[in-house]
Amino acid sequence: MSQKVLFESDTHRNVLLEDFSSGGLAVQANQHMIIDGKVGMILDPGGHKVYSKVMAASRQVLGPARLEILFLSHQDPDIVAAVNGWLMTTDAKAYVSNLWVRFVPHFGLDHLVESRLVGIPDEGMKLPLGGGHVLVIPAHFLHSAGNFQIYDPKAKILYSGDLGASIGHGYDEVTDFAAHLPFIEGFHKRYMASGRALRAWAKTARALDIEIIAPQHGAFFRGKELVGKFIDWCERLECGVDLIGDSYAVPG
Ligand code: FE
Repeated sequence: MSQKVLFESDTHRNVLLEDFSSGGLAVQANQHMIIDGKVGMILDPGGHKVYSKVMAASRQVLGPARLEILFLSHQDPDIVAAVNGWLMTTDAKAYVSNLWVRFVPHFGLDHLVESRLVGIPDEGMKLPLGGGHVLVIPAHFLHSAGNFQIYDPKAKILYSGDLGASIGHGYDEVTDFAAHLPFIEGFHKRYMASGRALRAWAKTARALDIEIIAPQHGAFFRGKELVGKFIDWCERLECGVDLIGDSYAVPG
């Protein structure tokens, strides 16, 4: 079993779990963990296809630490579908946008664990983690209406969810931004809601000291130069409602 360590200090570790997507129709998805002292969190743990493998890997990464937080960036199945299993087998709390608290239980949430599904207010929040904290950063409409990212100030990593997602290449780290563009462009133009939302996000991202932007699908961006290039690209992108014409043509 292999894991990629994105940051490590005496008390703090950021780990990208091995890719458990087995190909097929299901989109490739990354699972990230942050461990601080005796406490850990997992980000966007995924659906049923990867549940048992991600659970086993997370136990290995946690070691003696206990899982306290399941972070759900938004409500999509590749993020949320297995949340009942995670809540039934751990004591963790699952955090998701207030907008989705009444929708997520439709994935099959046992009433015994419902009270551990916690809503995140629109403005985001500070989440204590071990001896420190992470920030839950609003990134609404990128792509979901109730959408958050995690900023870890110790590791200087922004976990960007679907923003920055790439599909269809064979590497897990971006080295050449221009060569990477074909793998991110189509997805962002269609899935991200609007340039206005991206410009607001770019402003927020520039206020943070970021060494790595790690999306939930595909490759991550490491280093100020690549991080800066990605933020600049987002700020200029026309997408979503920017590209809608006067009407939707009636099919047929
Ligand atoms: Fe999504």
